[in-house]
Amino acid sequence: MVDSWYTRGMTPPKSKLTLDTPITICTLARYHAPLEALGIRTVGDLIHYYPRRYEDLSTHASIDTLMADTKVTITATIEQISEKRIFRPRMMTILEATLSDVTGTTRAVWFNQPWLKKSLQEGSVYRFSGLVKASKKDLYLASPAMENAEKVAVHTGKLIAVYGETTGITSKYFRHQIPKFLELFPTLPDPLPSTTLESLHLPTHHAMLRALHIPDDAEATERARKRLSFEQCFYLQLRALSLKSENMLLQAPIIPMAAQLLKSFTDGLPFDLTDGQRKSSYQILQDMERGTPMNRLLNGDVGSGKTLVATLVSISVVAAGYQVALLAPTEVLARQHGITLQNMLSQNVGLKDAPLRVGVLTKDYASIAGQEVKKKEFLGILAVGGVDIVVGTHALIQDTVEFHKLGLVVVDEQHRFGVNQRGKLLSGSRSLHDGMRGLVPHFLTMTATPIPRTLALSFFGHLDVSLLTEVPKHKKSIKTEVALSATARKAMYTHILHEVRDGRQAFIVTPLVEDSETIGMKHLKAATAEYERLQKEVFPNLKLGLLHGRMKPSEKDAVMQAFKSKKIDILVATQVIEVGIDVPNATIVVIEAAERFGLSQLHQLRGRVGRGEHASTCYLVPSGDTPSETQRLRAMMKTQSGFDLAEIDLKLRGPGGFIGTSQSGFDEISSENLMNVKLIAYAREAATQVLEKDPKLKKHPLLHQQLRAMNQSVHFE
Ligand code: ADP
Ligand code: MG
Repeated sequence: MVDSWYTRGMTPPKSKLTLDTPITICTLARYHAPLEALGIRTVGDLIHYYPRRYEDLSTHASIDTLMADTKVTITATIEQISEKRIFRPRMMTILEATLSDVTGTTRAVWFNQPWLKKSLQEGSVYRFSGLVKASKKDLYLASPAMENAEKVAVHTGKLIAVYGETTGITSKYFRHQIPKFLELFPTLPDPLPSTTLESLHLPTHHAMLRALHIPDDAEATERARKRLSFEQCFYLQLRALSLKSENMLLQAPIIPMAAQLLKSFTDGLPFDLTDGQRKSSYQILQDMERGTPMNRLLNGDVGSGKTLVATLVSISVVAAGYQVALLAPTEVLARQHGITLQNMLSQNVGLKDAPLRVGVLTKDYASIAGQEVKKKEFLGILAVGGVDIVVGTHALIQDTVEFHKLGLVVVDEQHRFGVNQRGKLLSGSRSLHDGMRGLVPHFLTMTATPIPRTLALSFFGHLDVSLLTEVPKHKKSIKTEVALSATARKAMYTHILHEVRDGRQAFIVTPLVEDSETIGMKHLKAATAEYERLQKEVFPNLKLGLLHGRMKPSEKDAVMQAFKSKKIDILVATQVIEVGIDVPNATIVVIEAAERFGLSQLHQLRGRVGRGEHASTCYLVPSGDTPSETQRLRAMMKTQSGFDLAEIDLKLRGPGGFIGTSQSGFDEISSENLMNVKLIAYAREAATQVLEKDPKLKKHPLLHQQLRAMNQSVHFE
């Protein structure tokens, strides 16, 4: 049993209390577990436990003016209290109070809260705040909050803070306790510099806490919320900028722009670069000419041609005598990139005496220039520089993989790799050549999903960003249809049949199974069953193939190759095909149980077609039909741009869907703040000013502490 001031019947001596004092010695034992569950361990945690929202109970009414479905506060005398039990439809206690004021009488009703009876006294006057409901015969207050009218209003009659609750602890607890503790700390050190606060007219930290927890002055509370939002944006920017300046202290190989080679490469392409590709490549090439490591995000829509940009800039790196590592999220994609790169670059004569060599390395496959080799042999050749560009999966990150002179690391579909894993590749010690001592490679990360600009500013603020918003000109827009009825499904199959007759191909994506534990097996079963059904019942005369995550890499590869070379008409697949598969002859993609996918996933899947010169269609087949689901599907029908869909996704689901990984410490940031461009700009400006004067934050210990906490708990990059 913890020795607590409470159990000794004392209030905590003010002089002994600090923000780090364990909350357990200042609260009743029954609150210890609930507080712990909410992550509140110290007095500091408690006063920084911010309200989730506010409830406006400030509309006062007299009984004769009550209106159904409004939230009001009335001041009334309890005339009579009665308690009933009913047994049907289930056991319930009903506590009812008859209330009166000078204008009339009404009732307050509470279900299953028999203990309230103790705190109600007939003949006394209370304030009641709650929802007015209509019964068949009258209007009554449903489970109102109440307080003795003689007491200072805390829970009724005004703007009320509502906190995140858990079993054993309610908002009432916080409304009572937090102001008491705040009283004990009349001043609190402010992590934000006073100049920043003054220039933006923001309240001090203490004033913010007061106004958030005791919302008596609506305007002050609004300002406090503004400060809280600003503070959260500010921390993100401070972190981003300090990561950036840390990066500036490192050294990377200088890669001169191989202008001649690049020109002959682009001249040899069967198409022109898009403006975005041209601009992004140039930005990357310029970055690599400097002696500091590039740290750049290539933020591009599906099909915008990110691979080409990566290939292009790799030429410069190889020409300068360095190697490139390209990390791909799946086996299939690694091999596909390997083939694409080798093909594109073998036509590019004049780079070296010998043709440029692209290697592929996955868990159990290795090849150099298309020839399969033993893994050990591969590693030996890589380490002496016999491979110029290596495309690989996680296998590439293993410690046993050593390079000769690794100059550039490219990560495709960045969110699938953990930060630490990538960090490993970026450490300079992975290269054996003496010339690499003290140097780290340049780093380019490419997104699978377009990241809304504002979100990129908040969470990827330490990266420079290049945008690919347009898709290559010849691309036709993809018609998107929702196939809801059986007739629609039939028409869809007929459409596929016609397309295949015309020489085209189709993808059919089988439903996502949500149970994560058996996910692999269930996918497999669902996909296999669907594959068999389609082959037997729907397309008996066509060649169908099956692709799922449980297949051996070599099997997957064989299926993909067969599909690419048109030996398969329809590829039935799990969402293995979600990322990056490029088969320009495919013109139809069917997504079964489409409502189970997120918008960005749907957009990715849709992006599997529309890659060639033929008109393409995406069929979304819902398995259910609830409003929010069709809302998403409708967004898909209306919107072609991945960036626009990403904005919609952000509004519908919040930032979690983009950052994906744990982001404790940032739960409070609403997506609204993250999208507030002005606020972010202010925050970035303020953070820049602080770091300019005090780069190591030596004069701002609280900010320094905050930053350290963030680096420990936040795993996005
Ligand atoms: P993503 O950005 O989704 O990774 P890819 O790099 O897979 O896109 O490119 C999609 C397709 O577009 C590929 O077949 C590629 O060859 C082609 N492509 C790339 N750039 C252009 C361009 N400028 N004009 C026409 N086609 C292009
Ligand atoms: Mg790609």
